[in-house]
Amino acid sequence: GREWHLTARPHGWPTPDDFALREAAVPEPAEGQIVVRNRHFSVDPYMRGRMNDVKSYVPPFQLDEPMDGGAVGEVIASRSEKFAVGDHVLHGLGWREYAVLDAARATKADPALAPLSGYLGVLGMTGLTAYAGLLEVASLKEGDVVFVSGAAGAVGSQVGQIARLKGASRVIGSAGSDEKVRLLVEEYGFDAAFNYKNGTPVAEQLKKAAPDGIDVYFDNVGGEHLEAAISSLNVHGRVAICGMISQYNTTEPPAAPRNLALVIGKRLRLQGLLVSDHSALHPQFVQEVSSWVRSGELKYSETTVSGIENAVDAFLGMLRGENTGKMIVSLDA
Ligand code: NDP
Repeated sequence: GREWHLTARPHGWPTPDDFALREAAVPEPAEGQIVVRNRHFSVDPYMRGRMNDVKSYVPPFQLDEPMDGGAVGEVIASRSEKFAVGDHVLHGLGWREYAVLDAARATKADPALAPLSGYLGVLGMTGLTAYAGLLEVASLKEGDVVFVSGAAGAVGSQVGQIARLKGASRVIGSAGSDEKVRLLVEEYGFDAAFNYKNGTPVAEQLKKAAPDGIDVYFDNVGGEHLEAAISSLNVHGRVAICGMISQYNTTEPPAAPRNLALVIGKRLRLQGLLVSDHSALHPQFVQEVSSWVRSGELKYSETTVSGIENAVDAFLGMLRGENTGKMIVSLDA
């Protein structure tokens, strides 16, 4: 099977030359292991951090070794009682066609309950990030005015809709194109949205969209967005710091936020969030979100790139904003 290796550590924006698609033998499964033919795998912003050789909350990718990440596929050989051939599983060995792993490291993904790719997005890691970040980290309360950046992406599109479903009084999103802004308002039920690339400063657009200020900011972006949110936050406002994608490919430190001192007088709470801390919420998340999806109250998009040979383009495209909702690499013929 083929698998993607990182061959050089990118400085700034990665380029296709930093990666290689290589042929690898699929080993025989040992006792307790399964072999999975991957059907879909995830490309995520956090993977950019793993391309740097720095200590972080997930270890860096090793050069000339297969990269990994979320994947779903079909069990094609099993030496475990946990799974039979034909079962579908979610596991952590993406970026490759075939995965061999301990059955204990896979969980069942039932294609009757949701499309398989959904286990990587709406009912998967990005969905739980949105749910836990909003409810546990930002302590969403009924009546809150909520602002989310990266609002047309996998996490952000779910944050805005969960906020609405949980009683936010007003939901505002920002995204990088007029088309995405239209989708947020017309399909996802945001009360207001703006295009942060249209030349008008974020702070000005946010003030216009939230004339009475905001109570919660869900940050996917950092930088100018965070600075604007700090300016618009009301007293006792809460910020879930989920991601800072605006600086993942920069080589200079960010210029903003310059107004952090406002945190004092407004008694703001800014709290970082790691989805892995919130697995206790997983059953409740799956139950509630899947019922919203079934009833049509929560909508989601996926942007699918077909073929393992296009996975690096999918990853780079996601960093540039070519996706709406979850970016997925599909290996179906
Ligand atoms: P998305 O589906 O949101 O894809 C990334 C999006 O980021 C792009 O579509 C693009 O949309 C936007 N973007 C890219 N560059 C910039 C920029 N300079 N300024 C503003 N927006 C930009 O990805 P995810 O939903 O998977 O992740 C969203 C965020 O959540 C990321 O920051 C990620 O690191 C973080 N995250 C954190 C987790 C945690 O546990 N802390 C877990 C999962 C995700 P646009 O067209 O709008 O620019």
